[in-house]
Amino acid sequence: MSNKVHLGHTARKRFGQNFLTDGNIINRIVGAIAPDNDHIMVEIGPGLAALTEPVALAIDKLTVVELDRDLVERLKVHPTLKDKLDIHQGDALQFDFAQLCQPGKKLKVFGNLPYNISTPLMFHLFEFAGQIENMHFMLQKEVVLRLSASPGTKAYGKLTVMAQYFCQVVPVLEVPPGCFTPPPKVDSAVVRLVPYAEKPWPCKDVELLRKVCNTAFNMRRKTLRNNLKPMLNDDEFAKLGIDAGLRPEDISVEQYVAIANYLYDKK
Ligand code: SAM
Repeated sequence: MSNKVHLGHTARKRFGQNFLTDGNIINRIVGAIAPDNDHIMVEIGPGLAALTEPVALAIDKLTVVELDRDLVERLKVHPTLKDKLDIHQGDALQFDFAQLCQPGKKLKVFGNLPYNISTPLMFHLFEFAGQIENMHFMLQKEVVLRLSASPGTKAYGKLTVMAQYFCQVVPVLEVPPGCFTPPPKVDSAVVRLVPYAEKPWPCKDVELLRKVCNTAFNMRRKTLRNNLKPMLNDDEFAKLGIDAGLRPEDISVEQYVAIANYLYDKK
């Protein structure tokens, strides 16, 4: 049988379908997710239910968002799951996660994400950060390294700054390609993202922070002075206590927020 067929379903590349098939890894991920009834548990991309089944069976109700209609039809008639699931067929990128919240209950979101949409999906979820307790995602290992990077390293970039602005980032475990059917071409890793209840460095305009990061990291080998020339002059860097001769990966999230807040006040 082709390594693209699992449980009678042919994996669709356009939906980023790499199904988890390693029982040990599945148990470890479910342990990290720690399903409970005190939160609204939400899975993105349940697929053939590798994570869905152990999570749903541990709680009263699991909400799932799945794009592939064939997989949704399978879930609807799944013998042990059909009564446990609140199924939403559609694109998680367009999904209004706020509609799921109940008074006093935050969301716990998890998923083995389709890698082609993982970054925009995380940005979409950051919009609901205030309503989310935590998130556990399987991502490309390289993306987890970028999310959790420290300043001064090669992996530190705009994704790092934006993710660490919203969340505490904790790498959980690495997962080799052989744990999936079909195996992806890259190594994977699970990350835990915990949105801050109170942000350590509040930003007055998150879109502006995003713009500053995009501009600062435009040319990684150039200095902050060169990259941010359209926005800040040397005197302004000095006022902020930031050395304009540093490279974009050399300053902290707090310093990026300070730049964005300064530009906001200047407007
Ligand atoms: N959770 C399953 C597992 O671990 O075996 C499947 C993971 S597979 C990597 C990604 C899943 O996300 C697939 O079921 C795919 O159909 C679904 N998917 C892809 N794009 C999506 C989107 N935009 N919104 C919701 N689900 C999506």
